[in-house]
Amino acid sequence: MISLKKYLERDLPGVAEAGAAEDAGILPATLSAYGSAMLAMGNFSQDACPALGDGLKQRLGSLQAGLSPPLKRENIQATDRAVQERVQDWGQRTARHYRDKAGEVKSLLLTMARAGEAVGQRDQRAASQMNEVTSRLSRIATLDDLTEMRASIERSTAELKISIERMTAEGKAAVEELKKQVTVYQAKLEEAEELASRDALTGVRNRMCLESMIENRMEAGSPFCVAMIDIDGFKTVNDTHGHSAGDELLKQFASELRSACRSTDVIGRWGGDEFLILLDYRLVEAMAQIDRLRRWVCGDYTVRGPAGAMKLRLDASIGLAEHVPQESMSTLIERADVAMYEQKGAGRGMSAG
Ligand code: GH3
Ligand code: MG
Repeated sequence: MISLKKYLERDLPGVAEAGAAEDAGILPATLSAYGSAMLAMGNFSQDACPALGDGLKQRLGSLQAGLSPPLKRENIQATDRAVQERVQDWGQRTARHYRDKAGEVKSLLLTMARAGEAVGQRDQRAASQMNEVTSRLSRIATLDDLTEMRASIERSTAELKISIERMTAEGKAAVEELKKQVTVYQAKLEEAEELASRDALTGVRNRMCLESMIENRMEAGSPFCVAMIDIDGFKTVNDTHGHSAGDELLKQFASELRSACRSTDVIGRWGGDEFLILLDYRLVEAMAQIDRLRRWVCGDYTVRGPAGAMKLRLDASIGLAEHVPQESMSTLIERADVAMYEQKGAGRGMSAG
């Protein structure tokens, strides 16, 4: 910035002593050039630092008024001093502003570097790549040239993006693999659960599974019935034809129960020659269903014994009970049992508890 100080010290004509005014000669042209320079400086300061440039531009604009006629030496000197001070002040504030901004960028870079390090530690495979980028980010933080910083950041950001994309892709592949494994294990678990819920001899549900299903129904509160079925005189089959013939008869009986039941009915072996059926409907409908079932499952069976195939007559007693709200499982089973034994005592048929 040009200074009027030296010019004025030369005591050139055109400048009046205190109280006088003159606007002819070379001084007005010089002052006009000085004013234009102030305006230009204001505009440049705005471009150089938009955050602080506006303030300087406005101050220089108002100081320019001190250069208008009537001209006084002290006014010109005061304006010149003020311009020097303002420009100096602006320069210092702008430098501080950029130092602060560079500091912010540096701390941002260090944060990114630390985050990158943390990711790098977690992912061993990406560690070396990430470490390279993060150490570059740390190096950038020591640079003072913003342009150089910017170029380095752009390069590092591009590399970081590629690294992250690669990690994401690898992560996706790992998740897919994990999903596959989970599906396989889930299938194995379901298979194991299915096996654990089955009776080994007959393949129908076992007692543990039946109990859990009854509990579920009791919690749900919807109406359901249990039918307790016990083969009549089964011991005789064992005693007369052997245990394996007895087993064969149990298997065939269970298979007939399956055929006679609805797909929603649950068939299970309660123990020995006792079977239990869970029917998800009310007693009247259950009685009709069990009556059909009894006629289907009772009758002649062909079983292989020590002396070859033989025909055996099978009868069963069935006791039916509908669950009463708040009733315990043991009470419900007991009622079905009592009904079944009533029928056994009365001969063949069916009774309900
Ligand atoms: P009831 O008419 O009163 O029912 O008498 P039951 O002869 O059928 O005899 P009960 O129901 O009291 O006993 C069942 C018998 O079933 C006792 C046991 O020896 C036999 N049993 C239990 N489990 C098995 C098995 O897995 N295989 C064979 N073959 N027999 C079994
Ligand atoms: Mg029996």
